[in-house]
Amino acid sequence: MKVDVIVIGAGLSGLACALTLQERGLAPLVLEASDGSGGRVRTDQCQGFLLDRGFQVLQTWYPEAQRWLDYGALDLRPFYPGALVRSGGRFHRVSDVWRRPWRLPEMLLSPIGTLGDKIRLLGLRQGCLRGSIADLYARPETTALAHLQARGFSVRMLERFFKPFFSGVFFDPDLGVSSRTFEFLFRAFALGDTALPARGMGEIPAQLAARLTGERLRLGCRVSRLEQGQVVLDSGERIGAQALVIATDPWETARLLGHARYYGDCQRPPTDRDESMPAAEAGSASARIGPPEARGTTCCYFAADAPPFSGPYLVLNGEGQGRINSIQCPSNLSEHYAPPGKALITVNCHGVGDDPDHLEARIRQELSDWFGPQVASWERLAVYPIPQALPAQAPPVVDPASVPQRLAPGLWVCGEYQAAPSIHWTLHSGRRAGEDVALFLGAD
Ligand SMILES: Cc1cc2nc3c(=O)[nH]c(=O)nc-3n(C[C@H](O)[C@H](O)[C@H](O)COP(=O)(O)OP(=O)(O)OC[C@H]3O[C@@H](n4cnc5c(N)ncnc54)[C@H](O)[C@@H]3O)c2cc1C
Repeated sequence: MKVDVIVIGAGLSGLACALTLQERGLAPLVLEASDGSGGRVRTDQCQGFLLDRGFQVLQTWYPEAQRWLDYGALDLRPFYPGALVRSGGRFHRVSDVWRRPWRLPEMLLSPIGTLGDKIRLLGLRQGCLRGSIADLYARPETTALAHLQARGFSVRMLERFFKPFFSGVFFDPDLGVSSRTFEFLFRAFALGDTALPARGMGEIPAQLAARLTGERLRLGCRVSRLEQGQVVLDSGERIGAQALVIATDPWETARLLGHARYYGDCQRPPTDRDESMPAAEAGSASARIGPPEARGTTCCYFAADAPPFSGPYLVLNGEGQGRINSIQCPSNLSEHYAPPGKALITVNCHGVGDDPDHLEARIRQELSDWFGPQVASWERLAVYPIPQALPAQAPPVVDPASVPQRLAPGLWVCGEYQAAPSIHWTLHSGRRAGEDVALFLGAD
């Protein structure tokens, strides 16, 4: 089989890259180490339940997701725009009043934040929506926490809403992420739905993988190293191509580049003067890409005869203590997530490293305070510790669209290279790498 370009990894970035190459008339081959496509966006089946590998959602505003995905076929099920916050031993609804204007009186009276905080939300929203995405990434930068504090939000609002909500997004309970990253995500929440595909998040990569023609995706093929313009698989098989795109997670990207002895178009290795590389990044590949700090999370699934609450809510722990960050019931959004007569409960916990039995006991103890004795009857289905869920996104963070992806004449990277997670940016970087490779190879 003719192969023009090897793409390592069938996560969203690798799939977007391969599809872009295919659209340009090139012949990509995607080599995926695991038994399926999707990378960190996969869904398992367990006793008739659908278990996403970690709680995640699709923000429908993402311009790149709109470009790539058929939302109708995904049969998206939106969450309530806002959340239920557990605070002071009670549940309080927080609503996006631009999308639920009739909830304004309830919002104004809510103890989640002061009246001033509700007014400050207006200013925060306006700031996040102003200008292009590139403008947003060009703003002066600080941490998300410092940004919110500078806007005058009260400690109550920070502790009861912003920290629990956004630590579930960034897996950083202290909100030490870049204010630019924060504003980008706030814009996504403000301008679109936060949704689940009816049959699980894995439907997203499945939709992309189905568009690859022929045998352009090989599963169970782990690339052990790059060598002389080729990849060497764990099996010892060598495959060569005119161009190579590394579309793995940032930690594996660093490993592969550290092992690479030769990058390029099989003509010459890159030099420190290679003008295709930014001056600051010239030098050895391993020096250019060090593994970023990782943020982890643990997702636990329980089966129950009935959900502990009704409605498509994200429920946040705003008590300021405990292992739990949030819970939700995917089966409240889509009947496909659980067998008939059953409910699926997702409990997301900060960090990783707990013994599963110990964690389960902690969860039952914490949630018994919230929902009473019913919690004792829940059946534990699975625990997913995800130590490398996301790269840390502390400042400085640059516009991901401006990050150079071509490391040398025959070698590209895409995905979370230089710490730009999210479905939007990973699809974007895959497309951008594919377009650049196509240009390099002289394709239309
Ligand atoms: C728990 C969790 C929740 C998240 N929530 C959200 C969310 O709500 N919204 C959002 O926008 N984003 C979310 N994200 C982030 C988003 O899922 C990722 O940014 C994105 O999926 C990364 O895709 P990728 O293609 O860059 O990398 P990956 O998904 O990591 O894909 C890399 C692929 O490369 C393969 N691979 C690795 N090494 C090799 C090798 N040597 N040879 C061959 N193949 C290899 C892997 O098996 C994998 O399939 C979340 C992530 C996690 C983990």
